[in-house]
Amino acid sequence: MYIVHKVTIRLSVRRRSRPVNRGFTRQGGSFDRHEDCTSYPYTHRMASKQPGETITLRYVAYDGSVAQAIPGRVIENSEDVLAFHIADGTVMRTVGDVAPEDRVAALESLPPPAERPKLERPWSNDSIRLHFRGEPFSIWLLFGDGWKFNWWYGNLEAPYVETPIGIDTRDHALDVAARPDGRWWWKDEEEFLRRLELGIDSVEHHARVWDAGHEVIRRLETGEYPFDAGWDQWRPAHSEPPPTLPENWDQDFGSHDRLPRTTD
Ligand SMILES: [Mg+2]
Repeated sequence: MYIVHKVTIRLSVRRRSRPVNRGFTRQGGSFDRHEDCTSYPYTHRMASKQPGETITLRYVAYDGSVAQAIPGRVIENSEDVLAFHIADGTVMRTVGDVAPEDRVAALESLPPPAERPKLERPWSNDSIRLHFRGEPFSIWLLFGDGWKFNWWYGNLEAPYVETPIGIDTRDHALDVAARPDGRWWWKDEEEFLRRLELGIDSVEHHARVWDAGHEVIRRLETGEYPFDAGWDQWRPAHSEPPPTLPENWDQDFGSHDRLPRTTD
């Protein structure tokens, strides 16, 4: 269904010699919980996800509610990477509608995510999401009109856990954005620091998130996977309507307790 054969082969060869689950395990095991995600009861269902099938990505808020749910189509589901395409116009559910400039104030002024409505909103560009088992970040490619590659986006987040409908993770506020030519910068630092002041995040958590960001930057600057793999050349083989969320997009699959808490 998708023209990815050359890319897939290159990725598999490049990654085979690299250790899996490097993440934070080398720093004392604070994220040990992510390592047993392979024993999650629904793993076998995720493993069966084939290219072209729908997967639902969910961001679980600190209070355990689903802050965002968005469907995409699987491009590759291998030991190396879980890659999927989120199409322009895909309808998501989100607790959002907070303007970027208001996000810091919203940390205090809005009720907890669990008490807020999850609105239907369209996602507004084509993106490729690359998630890595056990890693505390995902790496996105964001495209503009005509599939013009505009941005790399290192979304710092909890190592994902698998669910019957896809994967759950938890956003860590701080991000790394980069241009295709490699110029990068931190994003949402102010919001991230305010979370620390408010006690939403611990000092230890913050140190780990900064480390995760530096790992994204290191890979970017050294041209390491996935930055060297030609993902910006991927295109869907044909156009079809974006997938839709399953009816149980909001269901609690028990992931809340399996995602590391930001207060730890
Ligand atoms: Mg983020």
